[in-house]
Parts: sequence; structure tokens; C-alpha cells
Amino acid sequence: MIVFACGIMHESHSFNNRLTPLENFRNATPGCIAADPELINTRSVEGGILSAARDFSWDLRFPFSAHATPSGPLSADAMDTLVARMTEQLREAGPVDGVLLSLHGAMFAVNEPDCEGAILSAVRSVVGPNLPVAIALDPHANFTDRMADLADIATSFRTTPHVDQWETTYRAGCLLNDAMAGRTRPQLYVGRLPMLAGLDMGRTLDPDSPMNRLKRLAREIEQTEAGVLNIDINAGFYYGDVAEAGPSVVVTGHGEDSRFQDIADRLIAEAWKTRDYVSIAFTPLEQAIARARQPATKTGPLILVDYTDGPAGGAHGDGTTLLKLLLDADIDNSVVGPIFDPISVEQAVAAGVGQTIALDIGGRTDPAYGGGPVSLECRVECISDGNYLRKGPYAQGTVGAFGPSVSLRRGNVTIILVSKRLQPEDREQYRIFGIDPEGVNVLACKGINHFRADFEPIARELVFVDTGGLVTVDFKVFPFRNVRRPIWPLDAVELPT
Ligand SMILES: [Zn+2]
Repeated sequence: MIVFACGIMHESHSFNNRLTPLENFRNATPGCIAADPELINTRSVEGGILSAARDFSWDLRFPFSAHATPSGPLSADAMDTLVARMTEQLREAGPVDGVLLSLHGAMFAVNEPDCEGAILSAVRSVVGPNLPVAIALDPHANFTDRMADLADIATSFRTTPHVDQWETTYRAGCLLNDAMAGRTRPQLYVGRLPMLAGLDMGRTLDPDSPMNRLKRLAREIEQTEAGVLNIDINAGFYYGDVAEAGPSVVVTGHGEDSRFQDIADRLIAEAWKTRDYVSIAFTPLEQAIARARQPATKTGPLILVDYTDGPAGGAHGDGTTLLKLLLDADIDNSVVGPIFDPISVEQAVAAGVGQTIALDIGGRTDPAYGGGPVSLECRVECISDGNYLRKGPYAQGTVGAFGPSVSLRRGNVTIILVSKRLQPEDREQYRIFGIDPEGVNVLACKGINHFRADFEPIARELVFVDTGGLVTVDFKVFPFRNVRRPIWPLDAVELPT
């Protein structure tokens, strides 16, 4: 079997006015997958596709797998170029037996609110309507009708933090393999209700979370209902301004059968019941600092989680509110960062290790969200190329790149500055600066969900704060234009019982 695979993944915050240009995408050049023979051994989306190809002896054509840190909508150039590049590679691959795409599901461009639908449309323009096409998604996908019409198979990560990336693309590969062999005729059925948020953002660390409860029901149905090939559940992305935004249940069924739609509808009705449950509560900033000042009674860092400025949700990642508070508090053995600030990095690198310099740190992207630059004198402690190998559960084995990066010291506070916006996700991100996160007293980072996979096990406590960043949970403040209305919680919605 000849299989064409490609990845184009971005979670786009529709209300972040900083567009995402093409140069923000890593691994977007044809040939980059083949150039990295170690990828097959990683717990990544690429690793799952490469493993499926090996196990099923496919002749795999997998030119690239583009990713960028969540941020604003793609520029028209970024969107058009990525789609044109993929389409050209697909044409060059010649006749194929199946297509497997690694997408996000909440990619938004200035010229296209449903990027995944547009990508699938481009694929269909080459391969026609009948070839099996599988998509593997992030559960923060806003699953559109166009996606359901154009794809045959859909899987989503089943964990948040997303530690089953490998499993998700591999599962899509297994389903695709059966379809290519003619054993199944997969079709998609989507259940949706008028809700923009729900399922506690898909969080799964608590075994009894709404997502886990729904997943257990889905697994039971897969076992007992004939023809149900796969069920996946999306929590949706409520910063994505597309008509179908919000939670969805996607059933991949064998052939046409109204039962599959009934299953999707029944499961999403369960999600409706818990729509207003949220497991995260913010601690007021002063109270959070007071808690951080208290002497530790357990080992491990108290982690101050600057949630609303988290790059994983499309925020700027350079807000300084928490930095200012920690500099004032000067708590023993505290670390703040990573903070996105390539300009200060360049100045610190030019000065060199051991030098004391004056810098204006962070807050450059938009001071309205989380505080403007902080002027201070500090000592350059460490300079790093910013490359780290992920050793924790999140995308284990892959390499992350902060770009040129530094750690700085002012009093008892160590500040980490980086040149690329990346979420906190792995303890190695601190070790490259000679910092053992296990031994830190107070660690302030801009995490949302994924950092918890590697950091929660070592933390003595997580304290979530809201510093006014773009990932506000009060998303009613955003000027939605495209979402279907009425929709909960923007509108009062009564469902027929
Ligand atoms: Zn996600």
C-alpha cells in the first residue's frame, strides 16, 4: 500500500491579533521527516505514523509535519503556502492507496476559519472522493461538518495533557489500513450540541473527570455495538471563532447507519450535563505570593501557574505581572520562566556570562495582556543554545528548541528568557540552564495543561493565577463572529427534553 502522510498542526487563538507567519512553523520543509531517522522512536504524532507504516509495510510518502506554538490566526501566506506545499507533495507521490493527516482541528487563518476543512478539500481535489482519508487530531479540535464530509476516519488524543500522541496517529493508521484493504467502509458521524465549552477542557488527570467518564462509555460502546470502528471525543477550542466551535463526539462507523449518529448524539448529551464543570480555580495574586512565601513542609517546588499567559493556549507568553511580584517578594530559590524575549536574550548573550547588565524584560508583544517590560539589573548566569530532549511523558524523545536562551539572576530570583515561544512541558527545559526543577523552592511558569504531565509529580503544590493574559477563562469578552448562535454560555440555551 502506498500511503501519503502529512502534518499541519496549529491551534490558533482567533482573538490574538499577532498573526502566525510561515516562519513560525517547524518541520515544514519537504524531506524533514526522512532526514530524522530517530523520529520513529519518539512518542510523537510522527512516531505513530512511522510505526504504523513499518508495522503494515506501507510504502510511506511523508514529506513534512509542520507545527507551530499556538498563537494568532495564520497569515494568508502561511495558510496558502502550507496547503500548496502539501498538495504539490501529494501530486508528486503519484497514485496512493490512502492518506493519513496529522492535524490540530482548531487552526484558523485570516482567509479561512476552517483550515482543516480546507486542507481536506485540497487533498480531495487530488485524490478524488473515494480514497480512504484518515485524520488524527488534537481533542481541542472544533470538528466541522466539512471535515466530517471530506474525511473517512478521525481520531483524537484521549489525554490532556496530551501524552498519547503516538497512540492517536497509530490508531488512525490501523483504521486506515483496514479501509485500504477493503475490510471496512468508514464514515464519520458527529454529535454536537449548542455549547462552546465543556468537558473541563478535556482534562484527564482526574480519573473521574467528565472526559474520562465519557471515554469509558465510548470504550464500552466500541466493544458492544457492531460496526463502531472508533469513537473520539473533542473538548473543542473556545478561542476558535468557527461556526462549529465547541465539544463534539466523532464516531467512525462501518458504512451508513443511523445508529452511529444516535451514538454520537447520546454521548454528546452526556457532555452537556457537565458543561459548566471546571476543575481549575484561580488564586488571587497576592494570596498566591503569600502562599509561596510560606516555608515548605514538603519537598518539590510550589508551582505558580501563570495560566492565562500560557503559550499552549495561544497567549503571548511574555507577560510580566508574576515576574514583578516575584522580584519584589525575592523568595529564596525561586525561578521564573521561560519568558519569551529574544531582544533581551541577544543583549545578555552579547554581555556574556558573569556580567551584570540592565535589561527591559518581557511585556513587548502587548502590555495590555499581562504587563509591560520590567527594567532591572541582573547577572547573566548561563547561556544556552536552547535545545532540549523531551524525557517526560509529553512527546517523549523529541527535541524542543527555545533558540538562544539565557538564565539571569537578581537577588534570590532566577529568570529564564528564550527566543522562541514554547510552553513549559518538560523538566529538561530547566536542566539545560543547570537548574534541577525538583530542587527549586518556587517555580513560576506559563503552563496550562501539558506541563502537568512532567511537573505535577514533583510539585508540592500547584497554584493557578490569572495575570490578565489572552487565555482568559472569561471568553465572553471576545467578539465572536462565526460561531453558531445561540450557544451556551454566550447565550441562554434550553434543550428540548
Ligand atoms: Zn490540545
